[in-house]
Amino acid sequence: MTQGDLVLMGPPGSGKGTQARRMVDELGYVQLATGDLFRAHLAQGTELGKLAQNYMSKGQYVPDDVTVKMVRERLADIPRKTRIVFDGFPRTVAQAEALDRLLKECGRSLTAVLLLEVPRDELLKRLGTRATCSRCQTVYSLAVRPPKVPGVCDRCGGPVSATARSDESPEVVKKRLEVYEAETKPVIEYYEKRGILKRVSGVGAMDEIGARLMALLERRKTPRSTA
Ligand code: ADP
Ligand code: ZN
Repeated sequence: MTQGDLVLMGPPGSGKGTQARRMVDELGYVQLATGDLFRAHLAQGTELGKLAQNYMSKGQYVPDDVTVKMVRERLADIPRKTRIVFDGFPRTVAQAEALDRLLKECGRSLTAVLLLEVPRDELLKRLGTRATCSRCQTVYSLAVRPPKVPGVCDRCGGPVSATARSDESPEVVKKRLEVYEAETKPVIEYYEKRGILKRVSGVGAMDEIGARLMALLERRKTPRSTA
């Protein structure tokens, strides 16, 4: 097992949420997904949820101060020994800097930042046909990765329906990809400079992609001699 926390990055539709959940199921990580936290707030009707929805429905990012505050509060509930996989956070350089501070404050550190890379054409195809399990929130793409049994979640057997999230109209999808390019690409450079970024192809079967990620994490355990 790895020593520290992980960040899983990738554009909308790259499948990072699905892969983060695998790390929870198979490696015992706790997932900290800012998109899920915002949606939970919205479902509970909190002020934060309402505020976040204004941005999410337009494909924009929720302001950094609001996002960081929410992450700080969630972090306080996670025991220090539990490894975290951050999913969808940080998305801006300011958030990445804030994460460094937050981790330091609670004696944590990042082992690696894993970036799932998927070509834009493929993202558009996936995002246009997303479907979600209403029980465990696993996300499918009916065009690219449907459940094995139509309408039934592979993971939990719950019902999978194509009820699109409010942020998935074609216009909003485009906007989200633009915002990713402008705001989140610099975060990739931020971690690349630090030497902890690992790029992984996010194209292929979910299990293959999962295996690629596992291989990267394994490799850290027994470093090879640099030839
Ligand atoms: P996706 O990865 O497909 O974009 P998410 O569930 O991670 O989906 O995020 C949905 C929306 O929630 C984003 O489009 C954005 O509006 C908001 N959001 C999630 N995480 C962040 C973040 N770290 N900073 C700002 N906004 C965020
Ligand atoms: Zn499910």
